[in-house]
Amino acid sequence: ARGRLAEFIAHGLRRYDLERDMPAAAAVSRLSADLKFGTLSPRTAAAAALDAAGRGGDVPVSAAEKFVSELRWRDFYSHVLFHFPHVESRAFRVAADSIRWEGGPAHLEAWRLGRTGYPIVDAGMRELAATGFMHNRVRMIVASFLTKDLLLDWRLGERWFMTQLVDGDLASNNGGWQWAASTGTDAQPWFRIFNPVLQGQRFDPEGDYVRRWVPELAELRASDVHQPWLSKATGWLFGSNDYPAPIVDHPTQRERALAMYRATGESLTGPAGGPEPLR
Ligand code: FAD
Repeated sequence: ARGRLAEFIAHGLRRYDLERDMPAAAAVSRLSADLKFGTLSPRTAAAAALDAAGRGGDVPVSAAEKFVSELRWRDFYSHVLFHFPHVESRAFRVAADSIRWEGGPAHLEAWRLGRTGYPIVDAGMRELAATGFMHNRVRMIVASFLTKDLLLDWRLGERWFMTQLVDGDLASNNGGWQWAASTGTDAQPWFRIFNPVLQGQRFDPEGDYVRRWVPELAELRASDVHQPWLSKATGWLFGSNDYPAPIVDHPTQRERALAMYRATGESLTGPAGGPEPLR
């Protein structure tokens, strides 16, 4: 743990605030399992980052402060679980428990296997299966995809993550899933739905992350790698190549998801639909 911290302070931290969302960049600490199991304390990690920025070297204060602010999410979700233990099995915003999830088991299986036909989603799920880790931005993308494209209950994804993640932690995992599903404390608004193609293009612009984890797409150029169905190589791709066509149509699913959330009524989606009173 100390070795990983030293490595991060020496190399990744200086780029953390600018590149922490880019899964192909080595700009995050990968300390989550150490923090989860207590082989490193968050105070040690925070102090090392702030010290490095204070030494006047090439670590900007903004990078160290961003890192500390991310560490706070871990503590925040621990507090949420402690004070609102119902989140372990139910939505933080109780109204969200009336969502009628419409998705089915075949799509859950395709998601687990990294065979949805959406490259950034499949890359994330395959990284998870191969290493027990997934980059934070990609966790957000695959969680949004499960809930708002495949219309599957966030608890199914939460459970799968716990069987796979080396850093699997009830509080942080539950918080992350409820954020993505718009059922949580400070959650992503219910009508904000990630477009998996645009997310890939924005956060993996060269396609390096996708090519690393989805070898079927290794030969595609950056312009094609996030939507292989538009590639001139499509014939090759969906002929002799084993990579699946998209299992759902994003624009269609987006509309279905919005209708599914709206059907819960005003308490979740109305103008005054902020978080429920704390209980
Ligand atoms: P860094 O960016 O280097 O961050 C440093 C540390 O801050 C992390 O090690 C972690 O302890 C903490 N941290 C950063 N972001 C978050 C966050 N959003 N929530 C809570 N803590 C954070 N994190 C877990 O530790 N265990 C989980 O089971 C887990 N499940 C998640 C599920 C979903 C759907 C999402 C969206 C996020 C989840 N996270 C979880 C949070 C986050 O993805 C990981 O902590 C992070 O990717 C670990 O990589 P890192 O150590 O390189 O992070």
